[in-house]
Amino acid sequence: MDPTIIIIGAGTLGTSTAVHLAHSYSDPSRIALIDPDPDLAAARDVNRIIRTDYPSKLYCDLANEALHAWFWDLRLQRFFHKTGWLVLDEEGVGRGESVRRVFRERGFDRTEDVAVGDAGSRWEGLRGSEFGRFQRAYFNPEVGWVNAKQATGAFLDDALKRGIRRVKGRVAELVWSEEMGKVEGVRLQDGRIFTADKIVLAAGAWTSGLLSPIEDRLAIAERDRLERQARATAVVSVYYKLAPEEVHRLANPDNMPIVVYGKQGEVIPPSVNQPLLKYNLSGLKITNSVATGSGRTISSPTIPGRDQYDVPTYIKEQFEADMISKLLPEYVRGRKPDHYRICWDSCTSTEDLLMCKHPHEKLDNLFIAAGGSFAGYKFLPNAGTYMVNVIHGKSNGSEKDRAFGWKSQPDLDAAAKGWIQCREWRDLQDDETSSVPLARL
Ligand SMILES: Cc1cc2nc3c(=O)[nH]c(=O)nc-3n(C[C@H](O)[C@H](O)[C@H](O)COP(=O)(O)OP(=O)(O)OC[C@H]3O[C@@H](n4cnc5c(N)ncnc54)[C@H](O)[C@@H]3O)c2cc1C
Repeated sequence: MDPTIIIIGAGTLGTSTAVHLAHSYSDPSRIALIDPDPDLAAARDVNRIIRTDYPSKLYCDLANEALHAWFWDLRLQRFFHKTGWLVLDEEGVGRGESVRRVFRERGFDRTEDVAVGDAGSRWEGLRGSEFGRFQRAYFNPEVGWVNAKQATGAFLDDALKRGIRRVKGRVAELVWSEEMGKVEGVRLQDGRIFTADKIVLAAGAWTSGLLSPIEDRLAIAERDRLERQARATAVVSVYYKLAPEEVHRLANPDNMPIVVYGKQGEVIPPSVNQPLLKYNLSGLKITNSVATGSGRTISSPTIPGRDQYDVPTYIKEQFEADMISKLLPEYVRGRKPDHYRICWDSCTSTEDLLMCKHPHEKLDNLFIAAGGSFAGYKFLPNAGTYMVNVIHGKSNGSEKDRAFGWKSQPDLDAAAKGWIQCREWRDLQDDETSSVPLARL
């Protein structure tokens, strides 16, 4: 009989794992998916970009596999909007070159150079934008975006129709059984306890907070803790509601592609069914260090008294200075945004997905699916196929096993410079409370 499985988290990786597991089980009711409020997930937003542009062939292949599903899978294709993306680069030879080298090696390169000065005239929607400080630009017509809230929900529906159990609730802790010498299940905040043979932790930015009590209990050394593998990191987005005629204009890909505004961020077009113009301030990465009960410091997306829509003035001003006044100003200058959102992901220093069994001998039945690093959503259709192999103890091939695996100390040392530079959340408060001590988890 198939093992019983609990998946914690119905975001990108939890949903993908649930769908692929459900299709591999003769009795999918042996799988339970637990989440209190999937709307907190990075997997749920008005849009996420789907691109295959990677300087690594492994991830380019993986993204092409996903893109195929975004085009052809009947459960997902209706959410995909092919708009192309224009990537502007501050430097002479930027990431475009390494990405296009991989395309050429794979034998399919649809990208083209765009003269920076021509961008505003080629796409009518970009008129009036400031592109002067950029050195180079390229356009990839194959890129698009999806309505991530709807697509994640539709994919999850497939797993539910197959018969997996959906439990609404927040996991308060992993339940350790002294007698069995392993994690036997989870306890929810409302007191309910669920047990299973295997536990999949797919809680995104919340992963470290859920693991740290067990890491304390097993006296796991600092260097072997999850926090060394993946950290909770956030980016703020701003959403402008457009008038129908503006939507009509910008939803036409001839008038507006997705624009990557150098290192500062991106702007993503609206669609007729989704009239919001969205900017990501990706140049400002945020972390929130908190102290755990045992006195350790970990990163956490939970900010007491503030929800994801409550963003400090400092960040709003940064948005205005870096993007709003410069990119599509005709549509947003002087307007009040519909809303802001601070959205959290779990990031690895190598930018690899982390999809593996926990390496500690006593955590043999605990599996981690995390590490989206602000680019993991596109893998909604296919990440679960690899996670299912991990859960069943099968290899995904040496290259993927290494990429998705728990990183050794030398690997971490080699990648140490890959950690994204972040500002501390407490340093960005309106009341300049930067001297306050770490919040408690
Ligand atoms: C601002 C931003 C922009 C991005 N843009 C893109 C993009 O354009 N393209 C792209 O491909 N990727 C993008 N990403 C990345 C992508 O969204 C994430 O990598 C991906 O969603 C991560 O999936 P996940 O399953 O690890 O986490 P999530 O999708 O965040 O899901 C985690 C889930 O765990 C649940 N959870 C947490 N704690 C508990 C608990 N105690 N009990 C039960 N459930 C719990 C949460 O409620 C949530 O539903 C972006 C991310 C951000 C933040």
